[in-house]
Amino acid sequence: MTLGFREPAKKSLGQHFLHERGVIDKMLLAISPKPGDRFVEIGPGQGALTFPLLDRHGALTAIEFDRDLLEPLTAASKPHGALTLIHSDVMNVDFTALAAGEPFRLVGNLPYNLSSPILFHALDHAASIRDMHFMLQKEVVDRMAAAPGSKVYGRLSVMLQAYCMVTSLFKVPPGAFRPPPKVDSAVVRLVPRPPEQVGIDDPRRFADVVRAAFGQRRKTLRNALGGVCDADRILAAGIDPQTRAEQLEVADFVRLANLAPAPPV
Ligand code: SAM
Repeated sequence: MTLGFREPAKKSLGQHFLHERGVIDKMLLAISPKPGDRFVEIGPGQGALTFPLLDRHGALTAIEFDRDLLEPLTAASKPHGALTLIHSDVMNVDFTALAAGEPFRLVGNLPYNLSSPILFHALDHAASIRDMHFMLQKEVVDRMAAAPGSKVYGRLSVMLQAYCMVTSLFKVPPGAFRPPPKVDSAVVRLVPRPPEQVGIDDPRRFADVVRAAFGQRRKTLRNALGGVCDADRILAAGIDPQTRAEQLEVADFVRLANLAPAPPV
C-alpha cells in the first residue's frame, strides 16, 4: 500500500511500520468505526492505520513523538480526511483533558518498549476511554489476557482485567512490519468496565496488594503479603493464606484489597 512518504525507521522509538493490507483490514474490522465515534491514535507513524481510518471515518486525532514524521503525515493525510496531530510523548498527554467529557476510542500499533507504561497510563484515564484496540508484542497480549493458573498470569493480567474486559483478537507475524520486529505481535481489545462493576474501594491499595502478591509469586499469600495484609484478613476475604497469587481470580484480589488496611499517607 502507498503511504505517500517513507522515513527511515528509528529503533529508539520502537518504529516498526505496518505494511500488510490484510492485517490493517482485520484491525479496521475489529475496531469497526461507527458514526459519532471519536478516535485517538497513539503513534500514527507513516499512517498505516491512520489513513484507512480517516478514509472510513473522516476525522481523527493522533499523538506522535517523532518530529520528523509530523510534516509528511500532515501532507499525506489531506486526501484522506481531517487529521489533528499532537506532537508529544503520549505519556505526557492528559487523556481526561483530551476527552473533555466525551470519551473516545483509543487505537494504536504501540512502541513495544513502552507497552506497559502506556497501558497503565490509559488505565489511569479509563473513564475517558470507551475502548482500546492495540497492536502489541504477542507475549504481552498473552499476559494481559491470561487466566488464573496460567504460567503467564500475573500483575499485568490482574490489573488490566480488574478495570477492563480484555480480549486477545489475532496474531500478527513479524513480516507484516518494516523493519520486522524480532517477535510475534497480536491485536488486543480492552473495554473499560463501569466503576460499579470494578468494585475497588481504593485503587492505590489494590495496586499495592497485587504488586506484593506477584512480587514473590512462588511464595504463599501469607508470606508474599506479609507487609500489606495479614493472614486473618486473607481468611476474612474467604481465601486460604497458603494459596499462591497465581491461583486467585481477579475478584479475589478485589475482595482482599478492600479488606486490607489503608497504606500510610
Ligand atoms: N502506527 C504505525 C504503524 O502501524 O505502522 C507506527 C507504529 S510504530 C510500532 C510506533 C509509533 O509510535 C511510531 O510512529 C513512533 O514514532 C511512535 N512513538 C514512539 N514512542 C512514542 C511516544 N512516547 N509517544 C507517542 N508516539 C510514540
